[in-house]
Amino acid sequence: MDSALETSLRELTDIQRQAVKWEDGPLLVLAGPGSGKTRVLTCRIARLLESTREQRFRILALTFTNKAAHEMANRVTRFAPGLEGRADINTFHGFCAQVLRQHGVHLGIKPNFAIYSRTSDRQAVLADALRRNPRRFGRNDQHLLPVIDALKARLVGPGQVTPRIARRNGASPHETNRVVRAYRLYEDELHRTNALDFNSLILKAYELFGYPAMAQHYQTVYRYWLVDEFQDTNGAQYTLLRRMAGEDFHQLFAVADDDQTIYEWNGANVHRIRKLVDDFSCRVVQLPTNFRCPPHIVEAANRLVVYNARRAAWKQPAQPSPHAHRGKIERRVFETDEKEMAGIAAEIACLDDVARAQTAILARTRALLESMREALDAAGVSATILIRRDDFASPEMRWLVTCLKQIARPLDQRNMATLVETFGSFAALPLDFNELTSRAAADGVTLMSVWTHTAREAQLPSPAAEVVSAVSSLAAGDTKLSPTVREILGHFENHDPHDDLKDDLCAWRRIEREVRAVNGFASLDRLLQELEMRSKEPVPVPGTVSLATIHGAKGLEFDTVYLIGMAEEILPSWHSLRKQNGSAALEEERRGCFVAITRTKRRLILSRARQYKGWPKQPSRFLEEMGFLNDGSDGPSQ
Ligand code: ATP
Ligand code: MG
Repeated sequence: MDSALETSLRELTDIQRQAVKWEDGPLLVLAGPGSGKTRVLTCRIARLLESTREQRFRILALTFTNKAAHEMANRVTRFAPGLEGRADINTFHGFCAQVLRQHGVHLGIKPNFAIYSRTSDRQAVLADALRRNPRRFGRNDQHLLPVIDALKARLVGPGQVTPRIARRNGASPHETNRVVRAYRLYEDELHRTNALDFNSLILKAYELFGYPAMAQHYQTVYRYWLVDEFQDTNGAQYTLLRRMAGEDFHQLFAVADDDQTIYEWNGANVHRIRKLVDDFSCRVVQLPTNFRCPPHIVEAANRLVVYNARRAAWKQPAQPSPHAHRGKIERRVFETDEKEMAGIAAEIACLDDVARAQTAILARTRALLESMREALDAAGVSATILIRRDDFASPEMRWLVTCLKQIARPLDQRNMATLVETFGSFAALPLDFNELTSRAAADGVTLMSVWTHTAREAQLPSPAAEVVSAVSSLAAGDTKLSPTVREILGHFENHDPHDDLKDDLCAWRRIEREVRAVNGFASLDRLLQELEMRSKEPVPVPGTVSLATIHGAKGLEFDTVYLIGMAEEILPSWHSLRKQNGSAALEEERRGCFVAITRTKRRLILSRARQYKGWPKQPSRFLEEMGFLNDGSDGPSQ
């Protein structure tokens, strides 16, 4: 019997197979949505592993979300069971964290560094840094943070920033010198506490690869590098990749679609694909067939995207697959946004679980999705929102994470304050934080041990008493991490968890699975790093409809797609319309619409209302560009 890989390879077209087996140096696969780019990339990893069973080199695959990385890793495991351990499939940030754990000591970074992904954490670091210098800085200097962020995002380290560079990155003329000093203090503060913010992960890895021996080491260990969704690479990530590759590395394989660049606001750029081809002397392969979408949708997408001037002129238009589902495009027009949400919710309510599980509702903004979710709730339809969550929703899980952080960093007062506060919101334990700190100082013990002692004496009801007891054993080093965390989750689970906690427990299990897959549950520091980089959204409940922003739907596919809010000032956004026609911002909106409609395998429903929040809105120009408003009507009004 054929292996899963052999079957998959046989199903590929000649040109796809050629890309999978490519051996002649740098290659760019440039192709539209649904053309099999991700499939080719995963088959290529599996085939490389399979055909070099006796060898020890590793393969590096990079993408942009943990979800995509996890999905890719699953596919590779299915295609090359037992060999997946030789493939590192990661996000750029995850990979950089790994590099810094292994080699960061050269830059004075200890492997147990904390990662700060939230703005509030970075603000607190800056506040602490500036407080050490009260004569020069005041409370108002918090607003310097975005400039520091921008400098880091452009790989400008604190040693390289000059007033002129600060100005170019958003500092006003009178504050450039302050920015330069504040940036240095901010970095010192991160260094002092052995912490890295998100941008530092890339910046510090970039600094490390400045040592030629480091780049050579990675070129030898990882013989093949692959990048999915290359069009979303920002300047810093690309510069890092260039430095890692130097002049000598040639086994780079990237797949991209310039028409799906929707992260320009984060530094992605449609011209970077051209730069990649020039810098690496890439050969280019195109995959012209769209295997995902019905012919009408492929045609509508082709019609839409030619309105963009900023795109690769050399890319062939997509063709529908002869085997594609015939599919259809429907339109809905409602009088108001409330009626739009209610009307669509009523349609979804008529679907069975199987159909719901294959249906997605996509929108330009989170706000629209929130209203959509309320309408679905009102219609008795449960839904899953696929939106990144930086933090857990329930105080219970936020408390657990702060406990783990406190055990790893016993001196962190700010975290301790959050620990006390989150615990207070699900278990009544009034505590004076100042008293806690003075008792810890007087007794010469950690804040955590004073707190656990107090909480244990308080005779709390279940499950608070049990979870405190488990945490205090862990803090005292009497129990191991994984079983203790599992025990705590069990206590929460057995006490009739509320909805947010249920979601969080689900999310935790998903994260645990993902982290295990990258061997990350072994140590507390590693677990905390992985947690910080991952979204805490719950896993989709089987049989429910998915709600996603256009950005969140990237790379995914569904039988049925509802794209709601197809009105001017919504898609395209009000913000993009303020720029002149033909602006880069408007083109990015158009690519957003292109990404959204090409998620569809069978049925696409484009919906709009004549009024949103009481304001009249015209039909989206994209409807006309796709060829739907030529006859002056866009369907019966509801
Ligand atoms: P996107 O740009 O949206 O990320 P993609 O180019 O990565 O899309 P895939 O997700 O790899 O496309 O493939 C889209 C769909 O087409 C998948 O369901 C995949 O299994 C299917 N597919 C790809 N190649 C073939 C083929 N040769 N024959 C049949 N189905 C195929
Ligand atoms: Mg893909």
